[in-house]
Amino acid sequence: MFFGPPGCGKGTQAKRVTEEFGLAQISTGELFRKHLGEKTTLGLQAQEFMSRGALVPDSITIGMVRERLQEPDAQAGAIFDGFPRTEAQAEALDALLAELGGKLCMVVDFSVPLAVSRERLLARQEGRADDKPEVIDKRLNDHAAIEAAVMPHYHAQEGLVRAVDATRSIEAIYEDVRALVKSCID
Ligand code: AMP
Repeated sequence: MFFGPPGCGKGTQAKRVTEEFGLAQISTGELFRKHLGEKTTLGLQAQEFMSRGALVPDSITIGMVRERLQEPDAQAGAIFDGFPRTEAQAEALDALLAELGGKLCMVVDFSVPLAVSRERLLARQEGRADDKPEVIDKRLNDHAAIEAAVMPHYHAQEGLVRAVDATRSIEAIYEDVRALVKSCID
């Protein structure tokens, strides 16, 4: 699982490492945007929350992850990116992995000051409705609460959380990320 504030680079790193190692990238944000693009019921439900930078309700999010995790490409392993974001989601993930015979190997914590994330998000502008400056600030402000809700669950498990300095270049971060993910596979 990759954890960090919006703009920390975890999505970019997850995409690259899943491609290299043949793993599934389970990004709840991207799944919601895909549903939205296809105008599915789930996408339309999620839209009102996403456009104002609010979290989509747990029941919708967990149901979507449950389905995604059962697709064939996830059987070799998966990187979660942007999930879990609440304590209930973290507990649901444990239950889901236990049910499917899987196990969480590691939590990679992308540490970066929020001011750096903010600059990256302001520069990103890929047409996302939630990359407007006021929504960016809300998402960054909410991150502290998300961290407080989720990380104690993982810090309670000795050695599970591994921090990566995410202020560096994409290449330098990838070197660390690659080695960490590889240690889960070997
Ligand atoms: P992201 O691409 O991870 O920044 O997510 C974009 C938006 O999708 C978030 O601001 C939320 O509205 C929604 N979202 C993504 N992941 C979750 C999640 N795990 N729980 C609730 N909402 C989520």
